Amino acid sequence: YTGKTGSQLLTEKVKKIKVAEFTSMPVVVQDSATVYEAICTMFLEDVGTLFIINKNGHLAGVASRKDLLRASMGKQEINSIPINIIMTRMPNITYCYKEDFLLDIAHILIEKQIDGLPVVKRSQNESGLEVVGRITKTNITKAFVELAHDEIL
Ligand code: ADP
Repeated sequence: YTGKTGSQLLTEKVKKIKVAEFTSMPVVVQDSATVYEAICTMFLEDVGTLFIINKNGHLAGVASRKDLLRASMGKQEINSIPINIIMTRMPNITYCYKEDFLLDIAHILIEKQIDGLPVVKRSQNESGLEVVGRITKTNITKAFVELAHDEIL
């Protein structure tokens, strides 16, 4: 018997959860795509954040719902605006690795007021980052619910 309270045990468990356990499939768009194509992908794939990759397949940017809405409000044709001119771009992208702790990611999402992060790994030649997953507020909500469920059982 460890003498630990239920709340201490729960805290320990929360702190141990890794990104890998709750990551989702990333939805990526080429940086040569138009804003119109990005909007179509966002609807078809049912995600709130798109990750933009360059021709080498490396992370180049992020486009959120509001980024696309903003681009659509302007006078320019969304069919002629490339996604890479409206996206948030590297090196300003916040990303994480599968080995990171989920609790740290939750803090980052709150602090930066964003919905999600790309989960990345360094490419073979170290020249860029490959997008291997997506972690969002929804994944963190799922972790929260699972923890509560574990307690009940
Ligand atoms: P929305 O803009 O739809 O409310 P977010 O709150 O996630 O969605 O995004 C807010 C802004 O932050 C957007 O301009 C978006 O491009 C940017 N952003 C989203 N995720 C990231 C990230 N992981 N790293 C850097 N910037 C991001």
